[in-house]
Amino acid sequence: MTDVLTIGETMASMRASGPLRLGGPMSLSVAGAESNVAIGLARLGHTVSWVGVVGADELGALVLRTLRAEGVGIDSARVDPDRPTGVMVVERRVDDLTRVIYHRSGSAGSTVSPDDVAAGFREPPSWVHLTGITPALGDQARAAVDAAVAEARRGGARVCLDVNFRGRLWSPASAAAYLRGLASQVDLLVASDDELHLATPEAGGSEEAMVSSLLAAGVAEVAVKRGARGASLYSEAGRIDCPARTVRVADTVGAGDAFVSGLLSATIERRPTAARLERAVACGAFAVAVAGDWEGLPTRAELALLDLESGAAQR
Ligand code: ATP
Repeated sequence: MTDVLTIGETMASMRASGPLRLGGPMSLSVAGAESNVAIGLARLGHTVSWVGVVGADELGALVLRTLRAEGVGIDSARVDPDRPTGVMVVERRVDDLTRVIYHRSGSAGSTVSPDDVAAGFREPPSWVHLTGITPALGDQARAAVDAAVAEARRGGARVCLDVNFRGRLWSPASAAAYLRGLASQVDLLVASDDELHLATPEAGGSEEAMVSSLLAAGVAEVAVKRGARGASLYSEAGRIDCPARTVRVADTVGAGDAFVSGLLSATIERRPTAARLERAVACGAFAVAVAGDWEGLPTRAELALLDLESGAAQR
């Protein structure tokens, strides 16, 4: 049995060293919210598989090679001979303000389908991880998300949803119209504090009121991420908070995905609630300390590094 199955688009990611319009060197990697989580889980020792589609091109080969090298199962990944692998371009302008430009419309990844999901479920998972990005990619991708939730329900897998609102892909109104229906079918909902309202039946009012409406709708746990201010985890048992770990920030992109990988990892291991949130927050700190969406994610052995005294050298 696979610990986690995740479904989504992974693109080639190009990072510019300066303003894009001036040209200059770029570094090439891969990025996708769901595969970032998958890499984090694999590094922590879990079995995880990714369902998605890449083009029959060199960037698609890079995506598959990277995921394979990181220990993510790609047996159910599909190669589309007619469409290109999506590309995202990251430009850093001032301080930690990052601009992300997508070239993903009509990409191979946007065609992920219910058939792809069915292939992924041939090896039954304990958890299915989804994000609010995939349903924004098109009707077929949205049908794939619906199929994944239905299949999880049938097979007894639990579902984690990270709201991950992307304003470039759909409007807040369209996102809310879909995500509010989806949210009531998931076991663990993860959202940033500024996007929680997009997934809650009770959209106005305090955070507590919004979370209560989710718990009343059947969601077992709600995690709220607050960037450098840490995170909270709510359930019927109440709320617990955890401050962020102090690290020197290199790049904040991918912190949320790292957080999810840590939370799912400790949840699969049935760790106590506070320890689960602590691992999520620790993984978020590892992610922001290194440039790149997933490059800084910790292995199991590295998790304890944050507890060392600042400036310590491990010899
Ligand atoms: P992204 O969309 O860029 O992946 P996000 O908005 O989904 O990020 P954040 O709330 O920024 O997610 O970060 C997730 C978690 O990572 C936070 O709850 C926190 O624990 C950790 N984190 C984020 N920023 C920092 C920081 N500057 N220092 C330490 N930890 C951080």
